[in-house]
Amino acid sequence: MVAIPSSPPASREVVRTAIVPVMLSGADYRRAHDAHHIAAGLWDQAVDWVHAEWKAKHNPSKYDIRAFLTSIPREQRTLHAHTTEAIGYDLYEAIKTSRTNRKNGMSVRSPWRKKNYRPLSFSKHFGWRIRPDNKLNLSLGRGRPGIVLALPNVEDPVGAELVSPDLWSEIQLCWDQDNRQFSLHIPYTSRRSVSAGKAITAIDEGIINPMTLATWVDEGTIDVTVINGREARAIKRQRNKATGALQRKMSKTKNGSRKHHRLVAAKKRLKGKARLQLRDFDHQVARKATNHVIAHSTGRLVIGEVRGIEYKTKQKRRIGRRGRQQLSQWSRGTEERYLAEKTGLDIEHLNESGSTKTCPACGARNRPCGRDYRCKVCNFTCHRDAVGAINILQKAIHGSYVPIGPDVVIRVTYLRDEKRWSPDQRNTHRMVQCRKARALSSAKNQASTETSCKPKLVNSSTSSLEPDPLVAVA
Ligand SMILES: [Zn+2]
Repeated sequence: MVAIPSSPPASREVVRTAIVPVMLSGADYRRAHDAHHIAAGLWDQAVDWVHAEWKAKHNPSKYDIRAFLTSIPREQRTLHAHTTEAIGYDLYEAIKTSRTNRKNGMSVRSPWRKKNYRPLSFSKHFGWRIRPDNKLNLSLGRGRPGIVLALPNVEDPVGAELVSPDLWSEIQLCWDQDNRQFSLHIPYTSRRSVSAGKAITAIDEGIINPMTLATWVDEGTIDVTVINGREARAIKRQRNKATGALQRKMSKTKNGSRKHHRLVAAKKRLKGKARLQLRDFDHQVARKATNHVIAHSTGRLVIGEVRGIEYKTKQKRRIGRRGRQQLSQWSRGTEERYLAEKTGLDIEHLNESGSTKTCPACGARNRPCGRDYRCKVCNFTCHRDAVGAINILQKAIHGSYVPIGPDVVIRVTYLRDEKRWSPDQRNTHRMVQCRKARALSSAKNQASTETSCKPKLVNSSTSSLEPDPLVAVA
């Protein structure tokens, strides 16, 4: 066997969930709304029953809860049988999670709260199916009309390919509270590349540049990738200012008044939009970092530990009001989670105190000023976040900030933010465009009975020499 110098990245099977906003017809909307209330009612009944069983010293299993739910008369559970069963399974899983958490020392209760609205699950082939006219049918049980939707396009972010409905599993119809619309959650299996190698990559996290990665390429070269976070700062700033303005308006209205309701709705919409944009941004950061990790065949990921720096900043009087807000809205944990998922690596944390101050070339301590680092002793200059990442890298390898020496080449790549639509935004846009087109075409149909979609060559019927087949048919 010939050893391949750089093996292609390994891949593994993962389950992704596509979230597709949907537009329902008036009747379907009401049916979906009622079904969500019925599902919540069933959940409440099951919770009460389980609590009564516990009082009677019984410990109902997953199948006991399911049996209780299916024993409720059919007229009271106007849902597909599989949807009802899924409620029982969900409740059992919730009880199991609360037990595990209690075992781990957390003070949590098993499910007890009354629900008003619950997502509906539709099993493959039974709960959901594709009709001969290529529409998606979500069943609400035998003998009842289902919810009919245009077949959604599910796009896999890897390679931007459409996912065939054969690969979809159990679909959920959920109410998106922030965006005030229904959406389908469609899980499907996909593949994801996983980093496999021996190199060590260190990451320095920050508010201005969410992630800066450093890896030794060979004896004399370090590759540094700086990922810029300007877009996220802009989104957060805009959101903070707009919600602040709404909050001030709300303080002048009466609680419960119509105006107050409207302002609450506007705030929810605003926050929902920002949340989608930030989710997309965090995924972009993690994706760019993953590309660096896979390109350098990293097997060990080390991140400077910054947890806890947000505590008691007000008392310590180190950071101003705006800085504290930035710190509390920093989505560092989410980005780390995405990175771990995308790379398939475990993340190690390391105490990073002094990493931004120590000179990586000579080990002297300087106070960085602005975005550039300059050493007063050896005149070493570099990007400030790159210094942090290189120091964390040295600590991960040697246990302390060992100087890298003056001759090492540091290759810094800057990755700017891309303004791009998230799949959710793209779907919403498509939906709005479709609605506009439909409205336009129905208006046209009312205006004239012509159904020709070809550009008309002849403007009046009197001069027509050849009969237009479409007009002739009409
Ligand atoms: Zn120095």
